[in-house]
Amino acid sequence: MRLAQASSVAANLLSLTSVSTPDMSDDCIFCKIVKGEIPSSVIFEDEISVAFMDIFPVTKGHCLLIPKEHHVNLFDIDLELLAQLSKRLAELTRRVNNALGPEGVLNAVANGPGAGQEVFHLHFHVIPRNSGDPFGFKFPPNYRDEMAPRDELDNLASLISEASPAM
Ligand code: 5GP
Ligand code: ZN
Repeated sequence: MRLAQASSVAANLLSLTSVSTPDMSDDCIFCKIVKGEIPSSVIFEDEISVAFMDIFPVTKGHCLLIPKEHHVNLFDIDLELLAQLSKRLAELTRRVNNALGPEGVLNAVANGPGAGQEVFHLHFHVIPRNSGDPFGFKFPPNYRDEMAPRDELDNLASLISEASPAM
């Protein structure tokens, strides 16, 4: 690899690292929305949360709920605040359902880049779904050909049950 190539790879790696750094709330786009520094279409706002329309909706009505405090994802937020957010998430989901009458509403949260998280401020997606809409999960090619072996499921269940639920 030539020096120029190497330095461009290094620069890319650096930019990826900086995007996923947890405590960079000054550069966080959702903190900017909370502070009113960039425009957003707010649905509701209270002392702990804001709900607003997603700027690149995967379906019409796709919106987001975020805590006002900067937390990266479910791995670094205390359960008390999360419980309060859950209530607002349910309310937002019901509002979307009542306002738009879709066939269903998907709630999703990506925790970490491997799960598809691109904005590193915790956010819950609320996505109205209708049959034939262009959004969906991608499943492996032989998905559901065979059920998982019971011993594997039991082993995984114990492994997860014995793991810490703490941050
Ligand atoms: P993630 O992939 O991290 O789960 O989702 C991030 C979401 O934030 C995406 O759906 C994306 O469209 C949305 N988003 C990114 N930047 C902005 C923005 O500046 N304003 C709004 N309203 N949504 C944004
Ligand atoms: Zn933030």
